[in-house]
Amino acid sequence: MLRALALLHAKIASCRACTEAGFFVAPSLIVVNQPAARPRMMLVGQAPAAASRSRGKPFSGQAGRALFHWLAQAGFSEDAFRARCYFTAITKCYPGPARGQGDRVPTARERALCRPFLERELALIRPKLILTVGRLATAHFLGDDIPLTEAIGRSFERDGRIILPLPHPSGVSRWTNDPRNRERLAQALSLLQRYREQYALA
Ligand code: SF4
Repeated sequence: MLRALALLHAKIASCRACTEAGFFVAPSLIVVNQPAARPRMMLVGQAPAAASRSRGKPFSGQAGRALFHWLAQAGFSEDAFRARCYFTAITKCYPGPARGQGDRVPTARERALCRPFLERELALIRPKLILTVGRLATAHFLGDDIPLTEAIGRSFERDGRIILPLPHPSGVSRWTNDPRNRERLAQALSLLQRYREQYALA
């Protein structure tokens, strides 16, 4: 599995499909990590952020600090989580900045171009638990019928895997101003803690 994964990462690193389709991306940065053993957890984000690009590590900026603060509430230290979870994203390359602030959201075309890589990762890793971070990642697994806010605090079974949605930690502070959303997030982290213990995830 690890050799096949390394070959897949090499393919991803040399992929120029989005550039050839006319999008600006920074293909030298991919967000996938190379685990030491078969991970049972996978975290799927939207796309690499500018902070990840400069540090070469997924969720290593402000959004990462918020994410690991949440994960600590489910009993994961950052080191243990990074060692036991496979990080990836809907699109693997940094999509560039947005016109306003922050990073650009990958287009539907870019997501479709990158989709086979995610399918291959899922087939190779066969994770028991998938944490989907944000709207795009959650919709990839659950479809567009369940709004992200309504999905947070629940878990879903799809193809024998548990899907556990989380909000995207970047810019989530307004969302958590609402006590109902804080309750949803607390419920999601409580479910995560339960799965951590049930499946000895870390
Ligand atoms: S985002 Fe995916 S499909 Fe697009 S260039 Fe990068 S690896 Fe290729």
